[in-house]
Amino acid sequence: MKTIYGPVASWRIGECFNADPICRSPKVCSFDCVYCKFGSAGFVSTKRCDMVDAEEFSDDVSHLTSQQKRIPLRFSGSGEPTMASNLGDLVSKARVAGVSTIVAVTNSSLLSMPDVREDLRDVDVVIAKLDAADEHDFQSINRPHPSVTYSNVLAGLRTMRSSFKGSLRLQIMLMERNRYGLEALGEICQDLSPDITYLSTPTRSSSCEPLSHKVMLSAARKLERKGCRVSVEGKL
Ligand code: SF4
Repeated sequence: MKTIYGPVASWRIGECFNADPICRSPKVCSFDCVYCKFGSAGFVSTKRCDMVDAEEFSDDVSHLTSQQKRIPLRFSGSGEPTMASNLGDLVSKARVAGVSTIVAVTNSSLLSMPDVREDLRDVDVVIAKLDAADEHDFQSINRPHPSVTYSNVLAGLRTMRSSFKGSLRLQIMLMERNRYGLEALGEICQDLSPDITYLSTPTRSSSCEPLSHKVMLSAARKLERKGCRVSVEGKL
């Protein structure tokens, strides 16, 4: 299994290459979100371990041409990227190989851990998930490992916001069960002050009904009134 593939189109960051520090099927994640594109099969865990070989990753990144290295490299993949305990090593190998922009997507569950924040230190853009405004919605939507609490996630995001030098962006998946908590989510966004907040809704292939584009745009207006810069999936 290749650790890097692409280019792929991302509505949030444009054309990018994907780096998968997990390379497992079924997924390895600390959450089991109701809308997960990988389905419910997999390991819900918080135990970090090496899942891809760093030398194999080095080989894969060295096969990118110099033009391809100017396209962002996004760490996402088959689960939660921060569960890879060699993530920092992989990021530094990509940097040494000459990749100009490194992006990491995370579900925010492990951001309260200093070693995870250290692994993300040299990343240019971190896109961190926050779907809920309280513990109840968090449990119902993200179905986390029992050791992960909502307050823990928020504390990790706050620490990340104050210590991370790159661009910290939020990703909110909006659906029927959390759209009524948007006012409270907006207040949390206001407090966290992310550089951009991305709003999306589950795709039709997931078990959750997507919201209409009209509802999504109205949700974006609410967040903008809180002073957030918002980008909506599918907005023309
Ligand atoms: S965090 Fe991502 S990979 Fe993990 S369950 Fe949720 S959607 Fe799936």
